[in-house]
Amino acid sequence: MTPLAQLLARRIAALGPMTLAEYMAECLLHPEHGYYTTRPPFGTAGDFTTAPEISQMFGELLGLCLAQHWLDSGAPAPFTLAELGPGRGTLMADVLRATRGVPGFHAAARLHLVEASPALRAEQARALSGHAPIWCDRAENLPDAPLYLLANEFFDALPIRQFRRAGEAWAETVISLSPAGSLTLGLAPPAPLAALAPRLTDTRDGDVVELCPAAAPIIASLAARIAAQGGFALILDYGGWRSLGDTFQALRAHAPTDPLAAPGQADLTAHVDFQALASAARPLAHHYSTQGALLARLGIGPRSQRLAQSLAGAALDNHLAAARRLTHPQEMGELFKALALTRPQDPPPPGFA
Ligand code: SAH
Repeated sequence: MTPLAQLLARRIAALGPMTLAEYMAECLLHPEHGYYTTRPPFGTAGDFTTAPEISQMFGELLGLCLAQHWLDSGAPAPFTLAELGPGRGTLMADVLRATRGVPGFHAAARLHLVEASPALRAEQARALSGHAPIWCDRAENLPDAPLYLLANEFFDALPIRQFRRAGEAWAETVISLSPAGSLTLGLAPPAPLAALAPRLTDTRDGDVVELCPAAAPIIASLAARIAAQGGFALILDYGGWRSLGDTFQALRAHAPTDPLAAPGQADLTAHVDFQALASAARPLAHHYSTQGALLARLGIGPRSQRLAQSLAGAALDNHLAAARRLTHPQEMGELFKALALTRPQDPPPPGFA
């Protein structure tokens, strides 16, 4: 048993079964044993790779998308350029490099990063030195100013609760102790749940639905700033429109693993319910696309060809594989979605029209 597994087993013995949300929060962000707090999770030596780590084109195209919307909205200055969960800082570094030539953009931008992990804050400081980032613990603490915000693979890391439908009620997935004392999945007795009342119309007995209670307050605080001050939020992640099915998963060394096997040592995620994010953002308008279609409309084809001209051999092969990985329907192109949140009176951002 990992030290965190022992700690959680003692807690369950004392207080009873825990929800998946409580379990995820401890596994990912426990100050001593948490996954994000204790290790660099990214890259070929880590547990997973994200789009900005696959190719610089991802951040370049999203950066130009943000900057174009900023220009189209009258170039408000100053404005907050923010990212939720910036990882190694690669995405923001690519955004800043690609937007160097946009007149006034850098001078007006105040860079804010929302990051929970001290280890990753240090990596972000290295990647973004020269841009004077300010770190916040919570999205709710971002300044009151026009907001241009990116979040890639942030919402999938937020703790979820999971429910299985039983008649008109819902049985919550919980973690309890087996007779041998190890962590095991179980179901709490079914009970009605107001938050899932709308899902009684589109689910059947036995269907599994997930809720991410932490997401709505984050989205609501971003939406309030954008509604009052302008800007837009661009959220990319894997998931779909309306949660259905068990998507709670663990990744270790790029392979799926049992989420209960080694708490704190594997990445835990769940698919993002984009409909829930869009409704938490009201009265903002939302625009929704697959990642593949968005990158295609933002010009990944010509950008990829341009970069390919200066490459040969293995570097060229890697570049072409990366472009395919980001966009191909059987790779990240369709599983990953993009959601843009804008004021209803603003035009759809580039790539979403
Ligand atoms: N956006 C990056 C990293 C994705 S991993 C990329 O695309 O490569 C998830 C990121 O969110 C990490 O930086 C992690 O430390 C951060 N994170 C996870 N939960 C968080 C929370 N509750 N508050 C702030 N940051 C969090």
